[in-house]
Amino acid sequence: GDALDTAWAVRWVRAAADAMAEHRRELIDLDRAIGDGDHGENMDRGFSAAREKLEEEFAGPGAVLKMVAMTLMSKVGGAAGPLYGTAFLRAATSLGDADASAEAVAAALTAARDGVVSRGKAEVGDATMVDAWTPAVDAATQAASAGDSPAAVLAAAADAAQTGAESTDELQARKGRASYLGERSVGHRDPGAVSTVLLLRAAADAAAT
Ligand code: ADP
Ligand code: MG
Ligand code: MG
Repeated sequence: GDALDTAWAVRWVRAAADAMAEHRRELIDLDRAIGDGDHGENMDRGFSAAREKLEEEFAGPGAVLKMVAMTLMSKVGGAAGPLYGTAFLRAATSLGDADASAEAVAAALTAARDGVVSRGKAEVGDATMVDAWTPAVDAATQAASAGDSPAAVLAAAADAAQTGAESTDELQARKGRASYLGERSVGHRDPGAVSTVLLLRAAADAAAT
């Protein structure tokens, strides 16, 4: 069938590493406006380190995501390292070693989002990556219930994440470094919401191949 296998997860990591390298400057500039300007560097470093570990043998897609989780936790630092590390670890556990159906993909995204929320305690509207993750999870769940393919579920998630990231433009940041700016954080897009879009788009592109 069209279930997502280990090769998909490997393509995802490569596509994510490409996207973080390509958008490094954009993520740095977004973080410079409301944070400390390191988000692009952090994400590029983490995913390029993960890409270097793709030669290992993996028992299934979950094993690839677990490797990514461990790599992000050890290489990324800051707020994003533990948050994305937790997201990938929860997604890995949710997927396990089996190839992923549409329902399994939606469940893994839900687990990832729940991991980010339990770690960072942000709610929708706080202008963080949760504002990208939560609409993505909702769209993915809806697409899976409608009988869409795993690739279509991921594409729906990426589209919804993009809209969610745009919604942070007019929000005041209430978690993370950007919250130190108070009202001055309004008018800026959250960098972690943008990196979440890049990740989900990479996952969708890897599934469409
Ligand atoms: P740091 O702020 O430590 O320099 P990064 O710049 O790598 O870390 O990541 C910043 C991003 O992390 C923010 O744009 C935001 O999306 C996300 N973030 C920060 N704190 C939280 C939190 N408590 N919950 C969810 N996301 C958060
Ligand atoms: Mg930063
Ligand atoms: Mg930092």
